[in-house]
Amino acid sequence: MALLFTKRNMYIDTRHSTKIVKNLTYLGYKLFSFMLYFCIVSPLLISCQTKSTPTPMNHNYFENLSLEEKRVIVNKGTEAPFTGEYDNFFEAGIFVCRACGSHLYDSSDKFDAGCGWPAFDKVKEGAIKKTSDFDLGYERTEITCAKCDGHLGHVFVGENLTPENTRHCVNSISIRFIPKEQVIGK
Ligand SMILES: [Zn+2]
Repeated sequence: MALLFTKRNMYIDTRHSTKIVKNLTYLGYKLFSFMLYFCIVSPLLISCQTKSTPTPMNHNYFENLSLEEKRVIVNKGTEAPFTGEYDNFFEAGIFVCRACGSHLYDSSDKFDAGCGWPAFDKVKEGAIKKTSDFDLGYERTEITCAKCDGHLGHVFVGENLTPENTRHCVNSISIRFIPKEQVIGK
C-alpha cells in the first residue's frame, strides 16, 4: 500500500513536472516568436516601407504645375484638339515629361496624324506605363510617365499610319520640348 502511495505521488510529481516543462516550452516559444518579430520581421517591414516608391501623385513634381496642367496631368484630363502648342510642331529635339522632366519621346518619332494632338510612333524604352482605361465606355490604353505617373494620353495600335503601326496620342500640356542644341551633353 505504502509502495502504491509512493508510486502515485511519483506519478503526480511526474505529471506536474511535465506540465511545468510544457509551460516553460510554451513561454520559450512565445519569447522566441517575440524576439523573431522585433529583431528580424519588424526591421524588414520598416525597411520595405522605407524603400518602396512613394505614391507617385504625392511627389512634389506636381506642385508647380498650373491649374490647366494639373487638370490634364494629375486629373487625367484631355486638352481640346488642335489647340496644344506641339500639335503642329516639328522641330528637332526631345520631349520630356512636363512634371518630372523624364525623357519620353524624340522629335524624330513624331508624325502628323491629323488627329489634333501630338503623335509619336516610338517611345523611349521604359519611359511610360500603359494601363487599361474605360472612361469612354470602351477599352483604351492610357499612357502615363513611368517616373512620376503623370497622365500623358493614350496609345492606339493597328491604325497603319506609320510602319510602327502605333500612335502615342499625347497632350501637349503633358510634355515639354527641349531643342536639340540644349540636349547635347545631357
Ligand atoms: Zn513624369
